[in-house]
Amino acid sequence: MSKFIFITGGVVSSLGKGIASASIGALMESHGYKITILKLDPYINVDPGTMSPFQHGEVYVTEDGTETDLDLGHYERFTNTKTTKSNNTTSGQIYNSVIQKEREGKYLGKTIQVVPHITDEIKSKITDLSKDVDIVICEIGGTVGDIESLPFLESIRQLHLQHNTKDTLFIHLTLVPYIKAAEETKTKPTQHSVASLRQIGILPRILLCRTEKPLSDDIKEKIALFCNIKKEAVIEAIDTDLIYEIPLIFHKQGLDKIILEFLDMKIKTNPGLSRWGNIVKILRTTEKDVKIGVVGKYIKLQDSYKSIYEALTHGGIANKCRVKFIKIDSETIEKEGPEKLLKDVNGVIVPGGFGIRGVEGMIETIRYCREKQIPFLGICLGLQCTIIEFARHVCGLEKAHSTEFQPECPQPVVCLLDEQKMMTKLGGTMRLGSYPCKIAKGTFSFKAYGKELIHERHRHRWEFNVAYFEELEKKGMVFAGLSPDRKLVEIVELKNHPFFVATQFHPEFKSKPFASAPLFSYFIKACLNNR
Ligand code: GLN
Repeated sequence: MSKFIFITGGVVSSLGKGIASASIGALMESHGYKITILKLDPYINVDPGTMSPFQHGEVYVTEDGTETDLDLGHYERFTNTKTTKSNNTTSGQIYNSVIQKEREGKYLGKTIQVVPHITDEIKSKITDLSKDVDIVICEIGGTVGDIESLPFLESIRQLHLQHNTKDTLFIHLTLVPYIKAAEETKTKPTQHSVASLRQIGILPRILLCRTEKPLSDDIKEKIALFCNIKKEAVIEAIDTDLIYEIPLIFHKQGLDKIILEFLDMKIKTNPGLSRWGNIVKILRTTEKDVKIGVVGKYIKLQDSYKSIYEALTHGGIANKCRVKFIKIDSETIEKEGPEKLLKDVNGVIVPGGFGIRGVEGMIETIRYCREKQIPFLGICLGLQCTIIEFARHVCGLEKAHSTEFQPECPQPVVCLLDEQKMMTKLGGTMRLGSYPCKIAKGTFSFKAYGKELIHERHRHRWEFNVAYFEELEKKGMVFAGLSPDRKLVEIVELKNHPFFVATQFHPEFKSKPFASAPLFSYFIKACLNNR
């Protein structure tokens, strides 16, 4: 029988509930427990796959090809959990399956209601995950007080009632703001947020208080008294520029011990946290910096390339250096040219994207990196632009393009596979999830991975048009990675360059702080040599 930890958020959104949940997962693992983490998202979309990255941030893709919330990326980076479609559920999915069951007559003519039908569906999503783990950590998206998240909160209230008291635990992440004008830290929003939870029958036992300044003893006492929580369970979640420090910040305050005591589980005197300490030490003390230009189309929003920034940081950790991001909108490259904007960077990454806006800027950037011998890593759309650039400027195919951007293009070097041309809807029509790739010996990629057969995650519709294979190969493009049946191009490279690699897949999704994606660490190494 597994235990359940429920994590809710209060006062405002964006307090870092995903990272807090992932950090709690890491702490539980450090005591030897097997965990899984799931996120319940209150929005009606059936999956985040068709949502704009400007609204929703990155779409994280799991091994089984589910397009999920970016918080699942934090879960996989911080813990050993391997997430699948079961680790992220939206209200849209819940309602969808209840309505389907109703249409199939499975409710035998009963009136279908939020309680119990929707809540039963939600509860089974949570308990289904409990089979092979010691602890299920369940993050409730949204903020307490939202209309949308009520059925989720009602479901976890019911789960608490249906289990032994020691088997479920509610943790609430809240904001404790510092008001500059009054020079005071305010507890009232937290009091209100906890009061709202108690009104619907949820008693949080631990508060994670997001704060700019350390909380004084008085403030902790006040929060404890007004929120009906033990003082030691008022945990300070202080702002930090290093997310990988958060498990340690929590551990120092005894959060792991408090949780495990509450759940009546064994506590290790020496939990295995040294690897977190090592990472923090490297990132806090290293004198080496490397500047990476990230040239993409969703630059304005911090979260759109979340896994890319994290994987670059991991590549830095592997090389004992700090990575600085120089974020450049590819449309600015179109207006101002690459020379000025890229003059200070040690390497360039062109990440994925959809739609034509900014594509010419990416192509210009790639040309600049190819000609000026600047280490370059292209990802997904980054590979497709690499192909277009090479076809146009090296092979003389001046009209080369992708049919995504120019459907009637006369030299379609990137195109849809025949079976995809019939596509009528956008949701669920991409090549998604893990696919095998065979790497050719003697390439950058082979050196990075150190093996021939790899598996990486995909999220795209368009592919390299293999009709142009020989023409590009003759001019020096190295097809370093292919699908085992040799029909799909997965990696291209250039020789006589310090590092020039582009992948159709997204290696960033599998990168971890302790095990950087091989191409990212190799790329950072090349960038360090270009300082
Ligand atoms: N728009 C391109 C495609 O669908 C690339 C997608 C991506 O970069 N993730 O194939």
